[in-house]
Amino acid sequence: MDCVFCKIIAGEIPADIVYHDKEIIAFRDINPQAPLHLIIIPREHIPSLDQMKESDSALVGRMVAIANKLAKDEGVAEKGYRLAFNCGKEGGQLVPHLHMHLLGGRKLSGALG
Ligand code: 5GP
Ligand code: ZN
Repeated sequence: MDCVFCKIIAGEIPADIVYHDKEIIAFRDINPQAPLHLIIIPREHIPSLDQMKESDSALVGRMVAIANKLAKDEGVAEKGYRLAFNCGKEGGQLVPHLHMHLLGGRKLSGALG
């Protein structure tokens, strides 16, 4: 599978992994857009939000819950943070493996700040 995030899951590409369980992993973005920039992904290769099935809703809900906990652990919860999904070309999605951005540690503005 020629997917950079699947390669991170498989341990073929190194990443600074901050959380993992049997369904979900989270790691630091290689090109951070904020002092805290984490990527939260399902282990399952779902290509985009657009391809998500209704039965994936609980999985995506867990991604949000894990991001909320990571925001607390990383010390940005009190001041505020942003969770974002990019979907498709015009949505700014570059990696075709469903992922959520957690951004924090500075005042964010604009589309992704
Ligand atoms: P997208 O634009 O698809 O929503 O975001 C993809 C994100 O993945 C980008 O912020 C990019 O910096 C990050 N990214 C791409 N390749 C790698 C990688 O190999 N390792 C890590 N840690 N992050 C990556
Ligand atoms: Zn993948």
